[in-house]
Amino acid sequence: MAFSEIIDSLVRIAGRENVLTEDEDRRVYSYDATSQWKAMPDAVVFPANTGQVEGIVRLADAKGVPLTPRGGGTNVSGGSVPIRGGIALVMTKMNRILSVEPENLSARVEAGAVLMDLQGALAARKLIFPPDPQSFLGATLGGIIAENAGGPVCVKYGVTKQYILGIKAVIPAAGRAVEFGGVTVKNVVGYDLVSLITGSEGTLGVITEAVLRLMPLPAARKTLLALFDDLPKAGEAVGMVFDSGTVPAKIELLDNWVIRSINRTAGMKLPENAAAMLMFELDGRPEAVESDAAKVMRVCMAAGATGTTAAGNDAEALSWWRARSAGFAAVFSAAPTVLAEDVTVPRSRMPEFIRKVTGICKTMGLEVTVIGHAGDGNLHPSVLTDQKNAAHFEKAKIAVDRIVEAAIEFGGVLSGEHGIGLEKMKFMRRTQDPFFIEAMKQIKKTFDPRGIMNPGKIWED
Ligand SMILES: Cc1cc2nc3c(=O)[nH]c(=O)nc-3n(C[C@H](O)[C@H](O)[C@H](O)COP(=O)(O)OP(=O)(O)OC[C@H]3O[C@@H](n4cnc5c(N)ncnc54)[C@H](O)[C@@H]3O)c2cc1C
Repeated sequence: MAFSEIIDSLVRIAGRENVLTEDEDRRVYSYDATSQWKAMPDAVVFPANTGQVEGIVRLADAKGVPLTPRGGGTNVSGGSVPIRGGIALVMTKMNRILSVEPENLSARVEAGAVLMDLQGALAARKLIFPPDPQSFLGATLGGIIAENAGGPVCVKYGVTKQYILGIKAVIPAAGRAVEFGGVTVKNVVGYDLVSLITGSEGTLGVITEAVLRLMPLPAARKTLLALFDDLPKAGEAVGMVFDSGTVPAKIELLDNWVIRSINRTAGMKLPENAAAMLMFELDGRPEAVESDAAKVMRVCMAAGATGTTAAGNDAEALSWWRARSAGFAAVFSAAPTVLAEDVTVPRSRMPEFIRKVTGICKTMGLEVTVIGHAGDGNLHPSVLTDQKNAAHFEKAKIAVDRIVEAAIEFGGVLSGEHGIGLEKMKFMRRTQDPFFIEAMKQIKKTFDPRGIMNPGKIWED
């Protein structure tokens, strides 16, 4: 069947206005949030409901056409790039919050719902969905589930998989939508396939709906900053905070580059010579938050901070967190190409690891910026380079390989929250047990026998 006939079928399923085939339209869906990879889909489709997704998946499966699900396209590991062409299935028109049940602390959403819209709807009912990837302006719940995304609050609340009770997904092998899990917090019926689909990076099926586990909005929150004249020293302070018996909701680490970027973009007046800054958020009952905040500030000073300060009110705290998000986003425009890492090491080894990363880049004459969710050892060292300068880019890639290898040596993992996608595939066989890879391939075959779902990702064939 010629691809034009596939397009005719897509138009019959989703409607002419929901199928894009022009070059300039397809190009928009050839990227993720980095500038590292691009590959054009042959067609872009926006389904309106699960029934349409079923029709599209059945068509793609029958004709062996690659199908790459896409939410906001904010991932940074190549996940949404349709590397083998075919159909880019963009879920953003399925964006309804179907129900919120405060008595069950749960909500049912369509996969294309944007996190910020969900957060707004929940805040009005004094509820939260804790996972908070800093791309909340555009990231969708489907993408967040498919990447098992994290974010600053994972220190205390855990990652996405801890907040997914049920998933409706269209599975090629079934030829229809299947409900996994349910609506209850406790559920030990058979294998935990909800957790399997969470983090599957669009390779097993298309998530169309999810049942989310919610938490009550904390009664009080407090934001603190602590400045350091040495980056690894900030890493040491993180361990000392936990050792003091306090578990903040967020502990973010920003280096000098990001501090200066925040001053420029958000008009903050942080000391430009500070080597590092830790940002903390404490939440809970008001009295506990106040005493924990005082303790964290004392611990940071004991760890060698040059100063600490607390936000005077919620508005100020919010402006600091917005500045932090902008600071991370700014890293991606800091150079023509930014190789943003996502390694995670045991918290206790973070100071040593930071030294290693800065040492690797210094020796190789490369500029690196270090930002990350320090509370869970998840760091994003970002090497600044330019893909068009072949020699520099090659050197930067070698530095990134060394950083990843160091993380593994330190007892860490390849990816803390951004996923494997295209970016980390080459490390999979080197770092994982062959049985693990084989088991994943068998699972893939069970869900997607013809290999149409987001092919060319996670492991090399
Ligand atoms: C500035 C910035 C900050 C970020 N901060 C964080 C952070 O703090 N924590 C974090 O974890 N990540 C972060 N990210 C990465 C990214 O935002 C997350 O991975 C996010 O979960 C992607 O959601 P999305 O809707 O954009 O998905 P996309 O990028 O569109 O897709 C991501 C993957 O999910 C698959 N997918 C998407 N929708 C579906 C679906 N309905 N069914 C099946 N598979 C699907 C895609 O095929 C792809 O493999 C950040 C990115 C940027 C640019």
